[in-house]
Amino acid sequence: MHDSYSKVSGLIFDIKEFALHDGEGIRTTVFLKGCPLRCIWCHNPEGLSPKPELSVKKNRCRNCGLCQKGCSHEECKGLNRCLHICPDNLVERIGTYIDSDTLARKLLKQCDFLNACGGGITFSGGEPLLQHEFLCDVIKKLKGKVHIAIETSGFAPSDIFKKVIQLCDFVYMDLKIADKEKHIKFTGADNSVILQNAEILKSSGIPSTFSVPMIPGITDSEENLAEIRKIAGDTPIRYLKYNPLAGAKYDNIGKEFLYKESK
Ligand code: SF4
Ligand code: SF4
Repeated sequence: MHDSYSKVSGLIFDIKEFALHDGEGIRTTVFLKGCPLRCIWCHNPEGLSPKPELSVKKNRCRNCGLCQKGCSHEECKGLNRCLHICPDNLVERIGTYIDSDTLARKLLKQCDFLNACGGGITFSGGEPLLQHEFLCDVIKKLKGKVHIAIETSGFAPSDIFKKVIQLCDFVYMDLKIADKEKHIKFTGADNSVILQNAEILKSSGIPSTFSVPMIPGITDSEENLAEIRKIAGDTPIRYLKYNPLAGAKYDNIGKEFLYKESK
């Protein structure tokens, strides 16, 4: 249990200001690191691992070897690369630990501006529910001062899902693939709990929208979209365009982009 004065530490990989597509108005979006799903088209591969990781922009690297010579910086220990020496700034650590008080204080400073713009703060990922204690702690410190939205895959135990959405002013929840076997094949997990959470969201009365990523050859079939419309019922749906540039980020963190191979 954490009261409103507690500090819970979380891992984030970005804070994007002036975001225009993560909810009403101008928003600040906080990206929490770690996701239990493995959608083969994932456009945020740097958000998958629940640990900090190294990124090297390999397409611009001249292989000069400078960053691999070893250094004495505390923050580079164990990485086998120096984070500071690259003349082109191609080496970075993805993921920063931050406690809930520090993050809330940083976000509170933006509230007047965000409120004046009819915007707010959005928590995204990765899958933000994976760090639900940290997330709830931050939201409780912001509650009532600014509009709070969350973007979630809905893949979380239902008690956690309920606990978090009740603190939010708006919920975006993904509905990717209706068929259970295809969901397992393309995201690595059964969708039963997602469908259960979709029902919880629909009956919660919390303003919400379902998000459908339009992945060519996987989610965009008329059959899948018709099933998703049935699941969504009266809840609005937004259709998100596939980002064809997503694949480039995989190489930077030493992961393989599987989407093209499986089309
Ligand atoms: S210092 Fe920069 S350019 Fe040189 S090897 Fe490292 S990442 Fe590549
Ligand atoms: S749920 Fe989102 S972050 Fe997680 S693997 Fe799928 S697309 Fe990536």
